[in-house]
Amino acid sequence: MTRIASAIEELRREIPCGVELVAVSKFHPAEAIEEAYAAGQRRFGESRVQELLKKQQQLPADIEWHFIGHLQTNKVRQLMGRVSLIESVDTEHLLEVIDSEARRAGVTARVLMQLHVAREETKFGFTPEELLDYFGSRRFERLQATHICGMMGMASNTDDTQRVRSDFRQIAEVFRAIRHDDTLGLRGFDTLSMGMSGDWPIAVEEGATIVRVGTRIFGERDY
Ligand SMILES: *Cc1c(COP(=O)(O)O)cnc(C)c1O
Repeated sequence: MTRIASAIEELRREIPCGVELVAVSKFHPAEAIEEAYAAGQRRFGESRVQELLKKQQQLPADIEWHFIGHLQTNKVRQLMGRVSLIESVDTEHLLEVIDSEARRAGVTARVLMQLHVAREETKFGFTPEELLDYFGSRRFERLQATHICGMMGMASNTDDTQRVRSDFRQIAEVFRAIRHDDTLGLRGFDTLSMGMSGDWPIAVEEGATIVRVGTRIFGERDY
């Protein structure tokens, strides 16, 4: 068994049933994805549009692609109908562009709203206040071709597991506040994507339904 295949097998034993594994293949070649595919993995995450589209051409059609990086509005059109989930919607403007491009393409875009709680790591994402305001004001009702499936978030990049846990807990609290607000009438807001190679077990304990694991499967990335 290859190193990639045994990493997949190991994760499959460790990750609870009901939590999906997205194998984050960004910066790794199509051959690495083929090894994971041969081990049965079908969900892969990419962070750059051109890289995703190129790999998609080279690889089997039954792969489900998740877009997990910062998405520029001028690249949205290229992704329509090609990804099963855009996990990284970080502004209302991007969401509006996704909705109009999905309508134009005649597809339903499935997305997660990215929440920003971690300290310095990324500047992308809604703050908890912005996200609660977005849902509370019911602006999501204007969407015509977009299904908001849930949320994605990252914890601070630190060895301090208390900090990591409290970041995940904060993300999960916002998720549950929106999900369980019956006045919103949201349907299928049930997906919480959090946890990467170094911290996914904590994320699962705090309620993640998707974990996004790269390095642990494919090794270090050459940026
Ligand atoms: C790169 C990336 C990951 C995977 O990180 P690893 O530490 O390699 O597991 C997960 N989520 C996002 C949003 C990423 O950009």
